[in-house]
Amino acid sequence: MAQIIDGRAVARQLDEETALGVAQIIARTGRAPGLAVVLVGNDPASEVYVAHKIKACARVGIESHEHRLPAETSQDALLTLIARLNADPTVHGILVQVPLPEHIDAGAVLGAIDPGKDVDGFHPVNVGRLSTGTGGLVPCTPLGVMKLLDTVIDDLTGMNAVVIGKSNIVGKPIAMLLLEREATVTVTHIETRGLPDIARQADIIIAAAGAPRLVKGFWVKEGAVLIDVGITRVASESGGKDRLVGDIAFDEVQHARAVTPVPGGVGPMTIACLLSNTVKAASIATA
Ligand code: NAD
Repeated sequence: MAQIIDGRAVARQLDEETALGVAQIIARTGRAPGLAVVLVGNDPASEVYVAHKIKACARVGIESHEHRLPAETSQDALLTLIARLNADPTVHGILVQVPLPEHIDAGAVLGAIDPGKDVDGFHPVNVGRLSTGTGGLVPCTPLGVMKLLDTVIDDLTGMNAVVIGKSNIVGKPIAMLLLEREATVTVTHIETRGLPDIARQADIIIAAAGAPRLVKGFWVKEGAVLIDVGITRVASESGGKDRLVGDIAFDEVQHARAVTPVPGGVGPMTIACLLSNTVKAASIATA
């Protein structure tokens, strides 16, 4: 029987550590760390994510500063807000919820955030630091994946890791983090040939494709550790509530050593890592 890695429990534990970090910063500086959350427009999914993030801040004692701007906000106006938040000493982290409206160049906006406040880890400076192994703020979902792996494997040295998906926000940063830990990493994607055979060589599979039940039981070698980042909302056949489906055929991988469920695996870690990144940014800024 594969061990089910409980992402909710690991996230709760991380939140406790983050709350301790918040208390230490308050004791030292007299003020809680601050996270600015910027939402442009009213995309329903983004509204839900932002609400979750703000609630999570309150849970660990981080002060959230919410900035809701209308969809027609100009890029210049958004850049002016970012410049103001960069200069504000009460703001230690800045999160601009994506996607942004089409008339705004997301790269220009994310690149305008002070890298020291870039708690999403998307700024080119932080991307560069990650790929050279020189510190910086690490994107939240990849960081969460590593923390889940750490609950089952002490030492990744020499292990064969296969990452499925090569996006800038998930697949590539995960590959960099695995390389930093001396794993042997194969990054695969939609054009990869012979993916089942490649996956079958893996001690660790990180599935981040957004392709429901892509990884079948026969792709997985006995004893492999599986982390499922994928989340796809699938309409229920019976007309009930939609279901969230991962990239791994969960019911076919009982021969794995451990696997994360969807939901309740990587998902809860993403927000917990956002909070811990905010405390990390605040600790450095106030040291
Ligand atoms: P993306 O669409 O930007 O990238 C998907 C990657 O997977 C691409 O590199 C593509 O080539 C590859 N891919 C797609 N289908 C494939 C297939 N059939 N075989 C092999 N490779 C395939 O997506 P993303 O932003 O990286 O997100 C990936 C998944 O992770 C999505 O389901 C997304 O919802 C989920 N996600 C979850 C969290 C979380 O908090 N748990 C956070 C971010 C993304």
